[in-house]
Amino acid sequence: MKVLVAVKRVVDSGIKVRVKPEGIDLQGVKMTINPFCEIAVEEAVRLKEKKLIAEIVAVTIGPKQGAESLRHALALGADKAIHVTTEARIDQTVQPLDVANILAKLVERDNYNLVLMGKQSIDDDFNQTGQMVAGLLDWPQATFASNIQITDGIAQVVREIDGGLQTVKFKLPGVITCDLRLNQPRFASVPNIMKAKSKPLETIPLEKLGKLHNSIQITKTEAPSIRKGGAIVENVDVLLQKLRNEAKLF
Ligand code: AMP
Repeated sequence: MKVLVAVKRVVDSGIKVRVKPEGIDLQGVKMTINPFCEIAVEEAVRLKEKKLIAEIVAVTIGPKQGAESLRHALALGADKAIHVTTEARIDQTVQPLDVANILAKLVERDNYNLVLMGKQSIDDDFNQTGQMVAGLLDWPQATFASNIQITDGIAQVVREIDGGLQTVKFKLPGVITCDLRLNQPRFASVPNIMKAKSKPLETIPLEKLGKLHNSIQITKTEAPSIRKGGAIVENVDVLLQKLRNEAKLF
């Protein structure tokens, strides 16, 4: 069984970004693999360790630096990588439908049995791509996975939903998007980082697989409003008065 794992390169979650009207300023900013994608790679590696899958292929769509996320996935245990290259901004111009179209084309080209993805990219927070890949391939999907079991070609997935946990199952092939509690990714060891450098990495220009649709125009990007400082009040009466007169809560 072959698994395609989609990994996106995003701004590191520990970075305080500079927001400009035209988007986040990426100049000199530390980038990293999207945390939910790292969880997806870890899950693929665990499935391979249990001998449930034979091959893990990591794919990213984005500029040349995206190769760093692929090398990270290879160091964690992916066998091969595919870099679909474009210089367009992947947090703005390359949108979920574009990514989904490309992933669906790769699935058709290479015959994967499972696509593992992050539930969401932490830069654009779309939470759309996995669902679109499943739609385009007409495959079943399980989103927000916190547990995955595969037995005899059937995937059983525990999903994190508002009311608790929902268990679903479907016959593979299918798409699964990974949530935070699915696993704790391992650290890449130095020997594995070295080994990753010689694993196969195929590069394909995006134009060979599709085109960008620009179906969504981002009209403005704003930083969240600055939080005003708190104050300690003398007693409950003053608190109520402030809530009524200043915060106008009632
Ligand atoms: P999103 O729908 O943008 O929140 O992204 C959900 C998931 O789609 C991510 O966690 C990745 O697995 C995948 N994805 C999105 N954009 C890319 C990209 N440029 N390259 C590879 N995978 C991507």
